Amino acid sequence: MDFSISPQIEALRREIADFVADEILPLEADPATYDAHENIAVEPLRRLRAKARDRGLWCLQLPETLGGRGIGRVGMAVCYEEMNRSIFGPVVFNSAAPDDGNMMVMAALGTPEQQDWWLRPVVEGKVRSAFAMTEPAPGGGSDPGMMQTRAMRDGDDYVVHGHKWFITGAGEAEHFLLLARTSDDARRGHTCFLFHRDDPGWQITRRIPIMGPEEHGGHCELVFDGLRIRRATWCWARGAASRSCRPGWALRG
Ligand SMILES: Cc1cc2nc3c(=O)[nH]c(=O)nc-3n(C[C@H](O)[C@H](O)[C@H](O)COP(=O)(O)OP(=O)(O)OC[C@H]3O[C@@H](n4cnc5c(N)ncnc54)[C@H](O)[C@@H]3O)c2cc1C
Repeated sequence: MDFSISPQIEALRREIADFVADEILPLEADPATYDAHENIAVEPLRRLRAKARDRGLWCLQLPETLGGRGIGRVGMAVCYEEMNRSIFGPVVFNSAAPDDGNMMVMAALGTPEQQDWWLRPVVEGKVRSAFAMTEPAPGGGSDPGMMQTRAMRDGDDYVVHGHKWFITGAGEAEHFLLLARTSDDARRGHTCFLFHRDDPGWQITRRIPIMGPEEHGGHCELVFDGLRIRRATWCWARGAASRSCRPGWALRG
């Protein structure tokens, strides 16, 4: 593997380093910048995100066709390192977990319609996302073969029952990626579903405290008690948006 840093990435690295030094680090010294969980508060975050986006330092991890810079994994490693000089850094550039990984998964596996409805608002910074995989014992953690959350087919829909925890950002996310078992095959029996915060049949039962600063939306425990994930094009009443039909339910690997 070639780990050399190209002139293009080096230029980007310097731009990010300057942005962190000039725009972000000074805010760390001001207590008013922080929210109740020692992360950056909503208003300074909004201002900094607008500046980062104006300078083209935004969602660098994504392909250009989806609003990123398409700089690849090695390029991102260089950029993440510079962003992380500040605890606020990655979220300012829209490269923070869990949105970061979720966007990459949706970019790699989503259909164009799924990307338009589920991914685009996260790229635009209008919506936050969460990735729900880990379960309390005896469910799946590092070994997804142990996963117990189950999605059962019901006509055109899937209905989900199960229990997840440590789901970063769940308290503020609108778009969720949910890993559930759709068969008993330990290696191929999993499906990644997409659901919206307002879909009935699930709830957050606890925000799990951790040491130190918390991501926006915390780390939450979720119970699924009949979440119905509809297959496709039912109308999603979300104002007068032209993208009103929500493409359904599962990402294809
Ligand atoms: C701050 C924080 C944020 C998180 N955010 C998210 C999130 O957004 N979404 C999400 O889904 N999860 C999240 N997690 C959960 C995290 O992904 C899991 O903690 C991790 O995958 C490990 O799973 P586990 O805790 O169940 O540990 P376990 O899987 O129980 O692992 C415990 C130990 O057993 C070993 N082990 C487990 N299975 C095997 C096996 N089959 N063979 C050999 N060794 C094994 C592991 O290597 C480890 O050493 C978060 C966790 C934390 C602490």
